[in-house]
Amino acid sequence: MNEILNNFDKISKIPRKSHSEEKIRDYMYDWAKERGIYVEKDDYRNIFMRKSASKGYENYPAIALQAHTDMVCEKADGVVHNFAEDAIKYYIDGDIVSTRGTTTLGGDNGLGVSAIMAIFEDNTLEHPEIEAILTSSEEEDFYGAENFDVSKLNCKYLINLDHCNENEILCASAGGVVFTAYKNIDFVDVGEMYVPYEIKISGLKGGHSGEDIHRGRGNSSILLFRFLNYISDLDFYLNSVKGGSYRLAIPRDSKVVVMLNKDQYSTLLEKLNEFNILISEEFQKYKGKIKIEVDSIEIEDKKCMSKEIFSNILDYILVSPVDVQIMSNVFENMVDCSCNLGEIYIEDSKIILISDIRASFNSQKEFILEKLKKLTKAFGLEYEVWGDYFNWKFKSDSKLRELVKKVYAEKGIENVKELSVHAGLECGFFINKKPELDVVSIGPNSWNFHSPKEAFSIKSTNTFYNCLVEILKQAKF
Ligand SMILES: [Zn+2]
Repeated sequence: MNEILNNFDKISKIPRKSHSEEKIRDYMYDWAKERGIYVEKDDYRNIFMRKSASKGYENYPAIALQAHTDMVCEKADGVVHNFAEDAIKYYIDGDIVSTRGTTTLGGDNGLGVSAIMAIFEDNTLEHPEIEAILTSSEEEDFYGAENFDVSKLNCKYLINLDHCNENEILCASAGGVVFTAYKNIDFVDVGEMYVPYEIKISGLKGGHSGEDIHRGRGNSSILLFRFLNYISDLDFYLNSVKGGSYRLAIPRDSKVVVMLNKDQYSTLLEKLNEFNILISEEFQKYKGKIKIEVDSIEIEDKKCMSKEIFSNILDYILVSPVDVQIMSNVFENMVDCSCNLGEIYIEDSKIILISDIRASFNSQKEFILEKLKKLTKAFGLEYEVWGDYFNWKFKSDSKLRELVKKVYAEKGIENVKELSVHAGLECGFFINKKPELDVVSIGPNSWNFHSPKEAFSIKSTNTFYNCLVEILKQAKF
């Protein structure tokens, strides 16, 4: 067993679901104490360790290694596993470590934690002072990173060990914020001449609201409201709406119930056919799959949104910023700024519309927020802004990134790419609190994070560890 796998085996026995990291925190604390390693724990289930510089490195600046202790806890259908108690059972098949599809593996980010343990255990290595930051609840809400006290850090350089590809060096990530627009609704009675119909759209692919936003998969709510606009000459009222199911996913399914003037059903069907043809032309790749359908439906509560309010909501949706807003001028095919209208629903006599904004720069995030605020004002809605997290801005002159590239090349890793991600990383929190930090994020080849199919390569893990040791050795900044 290599250095990382040995420690991975130990921590695989310790439950570490997000927001329940007490056991892994205590384990790491005791593990460090037993080995005479300087260690602290804080009130946010973070662990901090420090290792002095080796001989001859005393005058070089400290470097931090960072990983998160929590893991996503997902299991396949029918698998019996208690994530609060049970060890993760993993298998080694040739080069691949996995749970054979039963539960998440916790390589994300157990491999980062294990690498840090291996480096702290080995007293033969050469390096400047090393600081280790093991954070909690990265997978939920960055709780640990958000609350970590950076004033104790001596480091000028930080290596985050949470990436999943040895050919990539991450050097920027998006920040984000959530914008909830809402409006109180007075429901009105509509007469006997109106009949309920469900109009729904299906067949879209959906995906991650950041990483898939540039793939042209379409937003089911936008398409459905485009259709409602297409039939705006018809006499109908909106009874209910359910667009998307989670703000961080691109909406795949959306539906509304309308009360339609019963004389206009055949016109509705004609318009529906026309619109479905338009959609299938726009979505060549998904031809025949994406479809709007109308069904007659029985409902108990036939009260509807007034036409005036519906018109405001429809206009707000039609002009809302959706999908990619700004492309990067540094990284090819990389999104800088996007907005996902992820959820639309009615609750407690309020219509609620939730947009998830991501941006590489705070100024872009503010720009989209400004647009949305102006739109809510123009169409008579109110809003709330919440769930702010920080971006990690690309640094054109990074000594650490140059060193990582040099060592990767020396170790025979080819085609190394510098990359930005259109999603949030813990690095953003550290940079925000300590802007002078020089940061990269790296990691060994791993697949299917957050899924029972999660796996990693032993060979790549070895290469990664050797690189990390060499980076520390050459970190004479
Ligand atoms: Zn992770």
